[in-house]
Amino acid sequence: MKVLVINCGSSSLKYQLINPSTEEVFAIGLCDRIGIHGSKFEYEVPATDFELELEHDMPTHKEALELVLNTLTGEHGVIADINEVDAVGHRIVHGGEEFTTSVLLDEKVMAGIEANNDLAPLHNPANLLGVKTCMELIPGKPNVGVFDTAFHQTMPAKAFMYPLPYADYTELKVRKYGFHGTSHKFVAGLANDLLGNPANSKVIVCHLGNGASISAVKDGKSVDTSMGLTPLQGLMMGTRCGDIDPAAALFIKAKRDLTDKEIDARMNKKSGILGIFEKSSDCRDLEIAREGGDERAALAIDMMTYRIRAYIASYAAAMGGVDMICFTGGIGENSNLIRSKSLEGLEFMGVELDEAVNSVRKKGSVKLSTETSKVAIYKIQTNEELVIARDTLAIVK
Ligand code: AMP
Repeated sequence: MKVLVINCGSSSLKYQLINPSTEEVFAIGLCDRIGIHGSKFEYEVPATDFELELEHDMPTHKEALELVLNTLTGEHGVIADINEVDAVGHRIVHGGEEFTTSVLLDEKVMAGIEANNDLAPLHNPANLLGVKTCMELIPGKPNVGVFDTAFHQTMPAKAFMYPLPYADYTELKVRKYGFHGTSHKFVAGLANDLLGNPANSKVIVCHLGNGASISAVKDGKSVDTSMGLTPLQGLMMGTRCGDIDPAAALFIKAKRDLTDKEIDARMNKKSGILGIFEKSSDCRDLEIAREGGDERAALAIDMMTYRIRAYIASYAAAMGGVDMICFTGGIGENSNLIRSKSLEGLEFMGVELDEAVNSVRKKGSVKLSTETSKVAIYKIQTNEELVIARDTLAIVK
């Protein structure tokens, strides 16, 4: 079984050809700057370490996918014919309330996804474009949609409702949806396996990357998560502000005479780490600057980890305890400083980080808690593509 996993952004297309049963990755890569001058193509075959990186004109997603398919079947390809692709799995960002699980994509389902475009105007149209392009270039093969929001659809109303006029929920669908669902699902699933799959479990997953979110997962089901109607709510991120007083946005907009678009960009693209540190949105740059005595860098790290810690404690309270805290994403998997500072002061909850183990760089899933810690702490390498491939296999079977 070979599943082509596609993650289409407005100007990018990430792809992987995977066997979901054996987890073998045949090929992996990226088309970047689609429709922009200087489009870039990357292709890698993990089994042979073959790597290709070239500039190639890709005016639209169609040319990008054509290049992917030609490479997969070409001189350094991993399949002889495009018919060897059994199915295509697509990341779809927003499934609204309608899509609670992954689905086989057809005209009707795609119209349903399109109806949620307002909720994710930057992502959903690009995701759908990817689906349409695959249907055109790989005809006759099943396409499956896997939603970022689906895993969080198990949240109870008390967690997902905003205390706004009720009609804003019924008429405009304004509520918390949550994102990074495939990552939270993958990590929480692995956490449950590591716990020995008990009848009851309480897991907190911290997905800390450029975008960041935390989820509370009880008995394998998401019961709360930090992102909201959009991926702006919650933690302080690379360039997103996360939780602020909504009135602050209105105040800044009025005082600086900004348009809706400008205040939106200010909160989504100029805030978070970048907003405080000002020099970069990248956590590695931030840590290096802090080491060198940069006070703003130190402040940004203090703010970021203070907020993570507060979310962890509040989700433990929401679930009536916690068995395991997991860190994943580029920062969660790699930054011992952020992990350590995020757990500082949580000893009252029985959380004890083994600093010696935490400071050693190791790939894969690593236990980071001491033997006496009441709460297990792990770093877990997330694999969203594998979740998409597995869901695709389950549906086409
Ligand atoms: P992601 O969005 O999951 O790809 O994560 C990107 C973030 O991970 C960026 O802020 C990177 O700076 C951060 N990151 C990657 N490697 C490290 C590292 N070794 N130490 C600290 N942050 C890292």
